[in-house]
Amino acid sequence: MKSNHYHVVITDCDHGSIEEEKREFSLIGAELILAQVREEVDLIRACKEADGLINQYALLTRRVFEGLPKCKVVSRYGVGVDSVDLRAATDLGIIVANVPDYCVDEVSNQTIAMILTLIRKTAFFDRKVKSGLWDFHLGIPLYRIQGKTLGLIGSGRIGLEVAKKISAFGVKVIAFDPYLQKAGEGIELTDFDTVLKKSDFISIHCPLNESTRHLMGEQAFQKVEKKPILINTSRGPIVDEKALIQALAEGRVSGAGLDVLEKEPPDPQNPLLKMENVILSPHVSFYSVESISELKRRTAENVSAVLMGKLPRSVVNREVIGKTKAHISGG
Ligand code: NAD
Repeated sequence: MKSNHYHVVITDCDHGSIEEEKREFSLIGAELILAQVREEVDLIRACKEADGLINQYALLTRRVFEGLPKCKVVSRYGVGVDSVDLRAATDLGIIVANVPDYCVDEVSNQTIAMILTLIRKTAFFDRKVKSGLWDFHLGIPLYRIQGKTLGLIGSGRIGLEVAKKISAFGVKVIAFDPYLQKAGEGIELTDFDTVLKKSDFISIHCPLNESTRHLMGEQAFQKVEKKPILINTSRGPIVDEKALIQALAEGRVSGAGLDVLEKEPPDPQNPLLKMENVILSPHVSFYSVESISELKRRTAENVSAVLMGKLPRSVVNREVIGKTKAHISGG
């Protein structure tokens, strides 16, 4: 093991406990400090001796990085690194790492749970029975899941896991993903319009960016042919909610399972809150006790890897490799 007089600072964190992170750093004898700081001057003061940082919301600007001569690595809790000035970090030889896959199991399960809930109308029947109505005719028609087609919009980590799991129900999977050359196992890659036309369920698993904002909008809903169920566990603004509400009201879309909305939390008068064939959850897909524990441990592992002379599992600013401030073996 290398010399271990390392200092690591968590710049800010709302996770309640930092025991898992502490455990990870105790393995390399590094000192871990939690400093709940957000302002540039406070960040520089609290982190000036730090060899590595763990970051949640605090903005790590060029000025902050320039004030931290020892800092070799920043690891962000989660996927997004919008809080970090990546160009500045790269210029200064600082590795920026993240944890892109800590909740693949949870999000894929939420997707499957929503499809099953809608196709078997379990939430609907639960409400009816509890209101005194014991009558399955209220939910007719119900359809079989086996033999249906799921269309994925985005077939990355989560999309692939959804495909793997839903194939056990005898569902065929097709996908639109313009950045893939080759489909995952059991998935047929196709174009966007074919997904719209052929799918009984459409599930969104692409990132939100300028090309995906309102991708599921009026035009897309005009092209669906099988009255699909729409699932969105990705990001709210990928769906144009007004267009979805209209498509639901007209029966062109038969149901929707939404973990994410254009506005979170929604306005109390949002019509989706009143629709029987819509199920909602409060952007919870990422969460389980285990996923958060894994997130915390792996965020810390990214930092300890660099301090021990290795590259972390997921480097965001890959251009930094080869000119890092840290001594990386082979880097
Ligand atoms: P990923 O990067 O592994 O996969 C995303 C896929 O989308 C890639 O294969 C990419 O090529 C594809 N893609 C990009 N642009 C596209 C487009 N215009 N049309 C179709 N496909 C496109 O990401 P992931 O880990 O599978 O996560 C997917 C999304 O899930 C994330 O971007 C995030 O927004 C969301 N997410 C939500 C939660 C939650 O709690 N609700 C948790 C984690 C992730």
